[in-house]
Amino acid sequence: MRTIFHVDMDSFFASCEILRRPELKNEPVIIGGKSERGVVSTANYKAREFGVKSAMSIVRAKELCPEGVYLPPDMKYYKSLSLKIMNILNGFADKFEPISIDEAYLDVTDKLDNISPMILAAKIKKEIYNQTKLTCSIGIAHNKSIAKIASDFEKPNGVTYVKYDEARDFLKDMPIRKISGVGKVTEQQLINLGIKLIGDLASKDRQWVIEKLGKSSLRLWLIANALESSDVAPRESSESYSTEKTFDEDIDDKDLIFEYFKKMCRRVSNELKEDKYLAKTISIKIRYDDFETITRAKTLPFHFNDYKTIFDETLFLFDENYDVSRKIRLVGVKCSNLQQSVEKQTKITDFFDL
Ligand SMILES: [Mg+2]
Repeated sequence: MRTIFHVDMDSFFASCEILRRPELKNEPVIIGGKSERGVVSTANYKAREFGVKSAMSIVRAKELCPEGVYLPPDMKYYKSLSLKIMNILNGFADKFEPISIDEAYLDVTDKLDNISPMILAAKIKKEIYNQTKLTCSIGIAHNKSIAKIASDFEKPNGVTYVKYDEARDFLKDMPIRKISGVGKVTEQQLINLGIKLIGDLASKDRQWVIEKLGKSSLRLWLIANALESSDVAPRESSESYSTEKTFDEDIDDKDLIFEYFKKMCRRVSNELKEDKYLAKTISIKIRYDDFETITRAKTLPFHFNDYKTIFDETLFLFDENYDVSRKIRLVGVKCSNLQQSVEKQTKITDFFDL
C-alpha cells in the first residue's frame, strides 16, 4: 500500500500578495486579469464570503464585492515563492510530482518507518510556514485521486487523512464532479444516467460503465471505487519563464519578427538570471492569423540562461517550423526544465553575453 500526499497552497496568489502587503490581511483580496474583460484567478477566503469565485468575470466579482482589493497577477513573484515551496516538498518525498504552481503529489511511503502520516504532514506544513509564512492544505490517501479530493476537504490550512478501509465511505456522498477530470460535459452525461454521487458510480457494474460511457470512463469507475493506482510520476518542474507578443497587425516580415524575438529572449534571459535559474528546454509558440497555434520545443544537453543561447535556439526552432506563406499573429518564447544556478555556472553563461 502506498501513501500519497496531495499538497495544495491556500488561495495561493492572494496569500502571496498579503504576504508583502500585510495591511490587506483582513480585506477581501481578488487577483485577476488586468482589464475589465479579465476573470478572477484567485480570491482569498474573505472575498469568497461575498460569493467571489475563481473563473468568475472581474465585472461580476466587483458587483458582488465592490469593496474588494483587486490586484493584477504578478506571476514572477508567485513563481519565486512556488519554487521555494516545491524544493521543500521535494525534500520530503520519495517521489515528487509538481502539478501546478501551487500543487504537488508526494509519494511518501518509504518515509513513514518511524512516523505517522499526520505527523509528517504537520512537519511539511511547519517547514513551508517557517520558510514562507504561507499555509497549505494536505490530503493523505493510498492513491492520488483520493489524496487530491482530501486536500480540498478541509481548507484552508487543513490536513485530511483518508484511511484505506474508509476510502469508499469518504467518497460515496460526494458529487461526481469532485473527481478530477469530470467537467461539465461528463457530469451531465453521468447525471443523465442517474449518477449524481461518486457512490452511485461505484455501485455500478464495471461492464455497465464501459457499455454506457466508453472505455475511457473506466478510470472514473476505478477512482469511485478507490481502486485507482497511478504512480506519482517524477517530472521536470512545471515552472518556466516565458513571454509572448501579440502583434498589433498580423505580420509576415521575418526580420521584424526577429527583432521581437531579440527583445523577448533578452527579457527571458534577464529574468532567469535575476532569479538565479538555469533552463534546459526552450520552446517557441507561433500563432497564425487564423489562430492555428503551434509550439515546438528543444531540450539542450546543457543548462543555460544566457541571451545568446536562448536567441540562437529560438531562431533555429522558428526557421525549422514556421510556414512562410502565412501571416503571424503572435509569437512566444519559453524556457523551462529549470534548476537553481550555482555561482560557477552563472559565470560561464554570463561570458556568452559579453
Ligand atoms: Mg491552491
